[in-house]
Amino acid sequence: MSHFFDSKIEYLKGVGPKRANLLNKELDVFTFGDLLQYYPFRYEDRSRVCPLNELEEVEASVQVRGRLVRMKTEGAGKKQRLVGVIRDETGEVELVWFKGIKFVQKVLQYNMEYTVFGKPKRFGSRFNFSHPEIEPYVAGREFKATLTPVYQTSELMKRMMLDSKALLKLQRKLLAETADKVHETLPSYLLDQYGMLSKGKALEAIHFPENDKMLQRAKARLKFEELFFVQLKLLREKHSRQLKFKGQVFKAIDTLTTFYKEHLPFDLTNAQKRVIKEIRKDVLSGVQMNRLLQGDVGSGKTIVAFIVMLMAVDNGAQACLMAPTEILSIQHYQGLKEFADMLGIQIDLLTGSTKTAKRREIHQRLLSGELHVLVGTHALLEDVVQFKNLGLCVIDEQHRFGVKQRSRLWGKHKTIPPHVLVMTATPIPRTLAMSLYGDLDVSVIDELPAGRKPIQTFHRFDNHRLRVFGFLRKEIEKGRQAYIVYPLIESSENMEQYKDLMDGHESICRAFPEYQVSIVHGRMRPEDKDYEMKRFAKNETKIMVATTVIEVGVNVPNASIMVIENAERFGLSQLHQLRGRVGRGAEQSYCVLMTNVKLSKDSRTRMETMCRTNNGFEIADVDLKLRGPGDISGTMQSGIADLKVADISKDARLLQEARACAQKMLDEDPELKMPSHANVKRQVELMNKHHINWGMIS
Ligand code: ADP
Ligand code: MG
Repeated sequence: MSHFFDSKIEYLKGVGPKRANLLNKELDVFTFGDLLQYYPFRYEDRSRVCPLNELEEVEASVQVRGRLVRMKTEGAGKKQRLVGVIRDETGEVELVWFKGIKFVQKVLQYNMEYTVFGKPKRFGSRFNFSHPEIEPYVAGREFKATLTPVYQTSELMKRMMLDSKALLKLQRKLLAETADKVHETLPSYLLDQYGMLSKGKALEAIHFPENDKMLQRAKARLKFEELFFVQLKLLREKHSRQLKFKGQVFKAIDTLTTFYKEHLPFDLTNAQKRVIKEIRKDVLSGVQMNRLLQGDVGSGKTIVAFIVMLMAVDNGAQACLMAPTEILSIQHYQGLKEFADMLGIQIDLLTGSTKTAKRREIHQRLLSGELHVLVGTHALLEDVVQFKNLGLCVIDEQHRFGVKQRSRLWGKHKTIPPHVLVMTATPIPRTLAMSLYGDLDVSVIDELPAGRKPIQTFHRFDNHRLRVFGFLRKEIEKGRQAYIVYPLIESSENMEQYKDLMDGHESICRAFPEYQVSIVHGRMRPEDKDYEMKRFAKNETKIMVATTVIEVGVNVPNASIMVIENAERFGLSQLHQLRGRVGRGAEQSYCVLMTNVKLSKDSRTRMETMCRTNNGFEIADVDLKLRGPGDISGTMQSGIADLKVADISKDARLLQEARACAQKMLDEDPELKMPSHANVKRQVELMNKHHINWGMIS
């Protein structure tokens, strides 16, 4: 027997094949359940009567009340209109009709009190309502009025008479039939603990709330449920993976000890030490590690990665480090090679531009186990790249890699999947990280190495460029180096941006004839980029004009100034990443954000935020608020895309709560066998059957 909520929408009274077709096509509504989950996008408030002197031009319709004190027709012919005026104790407002004038004139009476509902429009200092809903005021009735749901519909639907009001009627009908069929999905102890509405009540109240308080409770309940089941799923997956996937145990630490004793170039920060301990525990546990390592730019993730690699190598396993760009992988390779050479560890580099002969040699040495560590780009993922015993994969700057790539790395070991450490400098707020990477453990380096001076950031308009150049010159005379960055997206370089960059380069060369200037952009050949980067790193060139290719990871400690051109075109997290290229040495560093004088409100907020703080997490929070979570998740793990009511950027606390509840439940009852969890088990099974339709009603 088919489930009531799976019934085709066509069979709901008042729908039929034609409307069903519309609902399918326009709203993706196919079943009773779908319709019930097509929630109002706003509500009209008829529970409040707005005093006439408090009218504002608002999006939603408002309700007012007053006595009709004047009425007359104005204009003639096509321009004729009827203007009425109602008055309350606080003021007056005009009501205007262009059509049906005779009828309105007949039914309205002077000195009668009317309730009027519509959208107020401002004309100078006055407001009017055109073609409002109007009815005689009946004392006592206003309190029965409630919030009226408004449903989003398409133009086509409106033309076919399936507008918000028609949907409202359908919802009412459906809810009447549904009342006794909705099953509770949460355990009663949770409902009690949080004073949450039952599922049935919540569904009713989200469509037809008695008042705002009920609406809020309904929303909270449905959001909680949605987040709870997402988290439950993620946590269960993590649990079952831990049972399924063994991990190599890295017990020996001989080389690591030598490294600590003899070669460590600085004292590790406490945060670095803590994270290393967390990872050490993972690689001793016998279970495959899947850990996300978050650390603001410059927090020192690379050395942590190297130390973990040593753990693998010390136990006869191999390690690889994958970076998103060629420049970055070259830099990692060069940095790590210095350490590796001291310790007699074999390390090599594999990128898209590695020559065939060299490639073959690398493949060979990987298979024989002679090569311990391989650094590279996506090229590492190719099937021909096979290891003798891959024990650890480090992925740098995760935001450019998707889940798919992660799983391809897993496959590189036939029996025991390698441990995976994903490093990201995109400081994702912890709550968001939890929902995006619910299946990963998260470690955070929340401390910068000692002695770093906070970067000073300024915002300057384009017309102050000469003064900015003056400042640059002074710093360069002190021995510093500078980056000047132009927006240019590597994959879709358009001509105009390219020209901006070239013009910028030319004017810099003209303004600083006494210094060598480097340029790096996405259209250059990798070896040319590398050559220019090297010149800059060696302090042969003083200024680096570049596009965002330098965004990730590049490390030149003597470069202490960063000028970002057209800063308004960058997102906050990108600005923060860019800024992280300076402030790496002992000198005071500066970041100058250049923008047009005309700025949108969001751009202004971004500039202000950058000038106010260096804290990546604070910046990420603002970013999340400005952009919403969708953008940030990008190619990362989906799961939040399906959220219907909850909004990660606004419901962070609820998310934490839901996750904690899910965790506690699984701790007590991993298989959901307890009678008190029967509801939950049922819902999980249903969701699995339906594939991920998180909010599916049972
Ligand atoms: P990120 O986390 O952005 O990848 P890096 O690993 O590139 O940062 O480190 C930034 C710089 O800080 C490097 O020059 C590195 O050698 C240095 N560094 C890392 N850890 C420490 C530390 N504990 N003390 C001093 N300098 C450190
Ligand atoms: Mg890095």
